[in-house]
Amino acid sequence: MEKQDIKSLTLAQLTAQFTTLNLPKFRANQVYSWLHDKRVSSFAQMTNLPLALRGQLDGLFYINAVQIRRKLVSRLDGTVKYLYELQDHNCIEAVLMRYHHGNSLCISTQVGCRMGCRFCASTLAGLVRNLTPAEMLDEVYTAQQDSGERVDSLVLMGIGEPLDNLENVLTFLEILSSPQGLNLSLRHVSLSTCGLVDKIHELAQRKLQLTLSVSLHAPNDTIRNLSMPINKRYNIETLLDACRAYFEVTGRRISFEYALLDGVNDAPEHAAELARRLHGMGAHVNLIPVNEVAETGYRRGSRTKIEQFRGQLERLGVNATIRRELGSDIAAACGQLRRQEAAATAEKGDSI
Ligand code: SAH
Repeated sequence: MEKQDIKSLTLAQLTAQFTTLNLPKFRANQVYSWLHDKRVSSFAQMTNLPLALRGQLDGLFYINAVQIRRKLVSRLDGTVKYLYELQDHNCIEAVLMRYHHGNSLCISTQVGCRMGCRFCASTLAGLVRNLTPAEMLDEVYTAQQDSGERVDSLVLMGIGEPLDNLENVLTFLEILSSPQGLNLSLRHVSLSTCGLVDKIHELAQRKLQLTLSVSLHAPNDTIRNLSMPINKRYNIETLLDACRAYFEVTGRRISFEYALLDGVNDAPEHAAELARRLHGMGAHVNLIPVNEVAETGYRRGSRTKIEQFRGQLERLGVNATIRRELGSDIAAACGQLRRQEAAATAEKGDSI
């Protein structure tokens, strides 16, 4: 029988499994705490369990772990970019950013992505598979262990589309925020989506305290259809309707991401159109100077043009900020490190 992934189980699921094994509930609590509080890597380390039980669990379950395959540290601001290797040798990325208010970690939710956004490096080779809850937890646990610092906030903005892996993401968040685990409040979590409308409605029903960020990147369907294939399934008005419904159900304001693509979506009339669209939503717009990815052909406009776009949105009553860039000497665009590694490994005749 194949061993089961014990780190992906919520406390309730673990307790239910232990019940079927005729093990008392307090044993599930102990094991959960070893996994998510003390964060051990083997059953042998669970020293308050009888030896026979440690052996029994080892026969039934495995404990997931990720390895740091590469690590780049910014000389400018201490940002750390991790390339993690999973147990099946696939690679993903996470980035630890240091702000005055604490450490923020950006994590991946899938190996690759199938959303096909034209400016994005993570989607170029398509989707390989979803990440498990344990793999997402290990992105956080490993960054904490390696840096010796606590992760204070989390953004689901690395490789992958979190709402395309919603069930695992929700389990991950439940474990992450559990008092017996890292106890991270979901108020300190942002989830970014390219706009899977049916999943936004589903997420709203959970009434979580997290911040939903929507990658809009265009003021109208003509432009969005060209850069984001998802727009052909759910157009902007359908997406904004879902955002308004999300706000109504959860009471949480939505934040919109808008990557400025030179000569594509950054003219004054685009700012005016965007402001009209978002009017009355109390939305916040996060302007992102686009990371240039060689394969995509999109270019970054001048700093002045970006400032002007922001100023115009503000004058039209839309709260907007320009994303501060951290680790510009190491980061490259999201998904680039994994691609570089895949290319290097392919040359050696291996695969990632
Ligand atoms: N799939 C999710 C989350 C991952 S991408 C989403 O689409 O939101 C995180 C953010 O980075 C998204 O807003 C995405 O559109 C943006 N992004 C992707 N490639 C980029 C690039 N080359 N430059 C700037 N932002 C980019």
